[in-house]
Amino acid sequence: MFYSIAIDGPAGSGKSTVAKEVAKSLKYTYIDTGAMYRAITLKALNLGINNLAIEENYSFIYDTKLEFRNNLMFMDGVDVSKDIRTEKVVKNVSLVSSLKCVRDKLVIMQREMAKSDNVIMDGRDIGTNVLKDATLKVFLNAAIDVRALRRYYELKESGSDVTYDDTIIDIIRRDNFDSNRLHNPLKKADDAIELDTSLYTVEEVRDNIIKIFKELIRNE
Ligand code: C5P
Repeated sequence: MFYSIAIDGPAGSGKSTVAKEVAKSLKYTYIDTGAMYRAITLKALNLGINNLAIEENYSFIYDTKLEFRNNLMFMDGVDVSKDIRTEKVVKNVSLVSSLKCVRDKLVIMQREMAKSDNVIMDGRDIGTNVLKDATLKVFLNAAIDVRALRRYYELKESGSDVTYDDTIIDIIRRDNFDSNRLHNPLKKADDAIELDTSLYTVEEVRDNIIKIFKELIRNE
């Protein structure tokens, strides 16, 4: 039997940073589902398929191979980890990931990945949909200005010339879209533990999650 930890939350709540750290400590496999939605968005853009036409041309999703190697996102054998972080992808990803044909395929892939390994998976619908039976479900949140600032520094560090205002506008737009879509919206699972990361360091949040997780499996 394999263990799984589901981490959901809005953009900039610290999900991926914390999830990567927890995975490293527990020696679990980290699965960044946001990277998968970004990769499909990149492919649609590269193929020149308009977002709204994806539903009529979705067979390309079935021909796409997505895999993680050392926490890098490979699509059809090519490392796209950097390309999926561009502004063009960010602008389109929420619309692409709201489509049922896209979610159906990626959710199957994500469940398959969790079948043969201990995993920590982060996203928007992991606790409510992808891994409904996850051993531990965490919903991470943080104040909007904290989330925007974190994302802003992250983008700056990777060489982007975005402004803080652009970043906060983008986060609000994406969260609204992700929370209000029809299929598997961003939502805290009823049985998830909610943690506000505004005032805590990555290490503190990591240690807290590991402590909760270890207590949970000790009492199983
Ligand atoms: O986590 P990240 O910011 O990389 O996610 C990018 C986008 O992918 C989100 O804004 C959301 O639209 C979509 N997503 C999703 N379901 C997930 C993970 C991400 O719809 N499980």
